[in-house]
Amino acid sequence: MSECVFCKIIVGELPGTIVAETESLVVIKDIAPRAPIHYLIMPRKHLSDMNALSSSDLKLAGEMLLLARDLSQKVAGSPSFRLVANNGAAAGQTVPHLHFHFLAGGDLPSF
Ligand code: AMP
Ligand code: ZN
Repeated sequence: MSECVFCKIIVGELPGTIVAETESLVVIKDIAPRAPIHYLIMPRKHLSDMNALSSSDLKLAGEMLLLARDLSQKVAGSPSFRLVANNGAAAGQTVPHLHFHFLAGGDLPSF
């Protein structure tokens, strides 16, 4: 999508700190971290949010969860982490490109 900030980061048109990538997914550091480790796990392909997922995205959706597991082991040094996905403006979504917030690295505030 031409005006999507995350699509632009994924293709290198905008700066971003990429911390992991796979054939189908990219992980960047959140520009305004709200935990010691705050990453954004997103698909390379533009999907606006989880409502845009279809059954053809089953593998992609599963890969997002397994990448979160791997990040926890590799960078957080702890099995404790939180995944958050805001879907739609009313739920707090500000960037309409599907992403999980990966939060870790210490005691997170209760939710
Ligand atoms: P959400 O509000 O759930 O859509 O999450 C969007 C997240 O993207 C927020 O936590 C922002 O801090 C983060 N963000 C926005 N622009 C950028 C950017 N250029 N690079 C990295 N993170 C960003
Ligand atoms: Zn996008």
